[in-house]
Amino acid sequence: MYYSIAIDGPAGAGKSTIAKRIAEQLQFIYVDTGAMYRAMAIYFLDHAICPEEEAAINEACESVKVSITYEDGVQQVILNGENVTGRLRREEVGTMASKTSVYPAVRKKLVELQREIARENNVIMDGRDIGTCVLPDAVLKIYLTASVDARAKRRYDELTAKGEQADYDVIAKDIRERDERDMNREFSPLRKADDAVLVDSSNMTIEEVVSCVSRLFEERK
Ligand code: C5P
Repeated sequence: MYYSIAIDGPAGAGKSTIAKRIAEQLQFIYVDTGAMYRAMAIYFLDHAICPEEEAAINEACESVKVSITYEDGVQQVILNGENVTGRLRREEVGTMASKTSVYPAVRKKLVELQREIARENNVIMDGRDIGTCVLPDAVLKIYLTASVDARAKRRYDELTAKGEQADYDVIAKDIRERDERDMNREFSPLRKADDAVLVDSSNMTIEEVVSCVSRLFEERK
């Protein structure tokens, strides 16, 4: 029997930071499902497939191969044999992922991969539909959120710390649009599972969120 912890929430709520820390503490595998949607997005971008072209997207889902491996505990995403991990975080990739994750064919393909990993490992998995769809029996489900302002500020600080150009208003607008799409799509929209614990990290430090999640896990395992 393996344990699964599900962390869902909107873009920029801190899911990956928290999940990585917990994975390290518990010696679980961290599965970043957004990275899988991003890998598919890279395929669509590289093949000039527009987000509106559902037929081409469906066809691609039948032939494209996405898999994940771990190097020193860090998830690597392999797209048709090529390691695309370095390209995943680009803005245009995130936007394309958000637009193409609405399609059932894309979701079905990636959900299968996610469940396969959870069947054979202790996992902490983050995404939008982990508690509601991918792992309904997860021992612990967290819905991690934060205000648009807090999320935009974190993203702004992250980019400027890396010496990259950033415009706060553009970031906040992108977050609002992404929330709108993720929460209102027809298939597997982002929402809190009934049995998920709501954690609002707007005014919490990373350490506070990590200790809250690990305490909840200890109580339930
Ligand atoms: O979490 P991340 O920003 O990397 O995800 C990129 C996009 O992939 C999200 O905006 C969302 O549309 C989609 N996604 C999803 N279901 C998941 C994970 C990500 O639809 N489980």
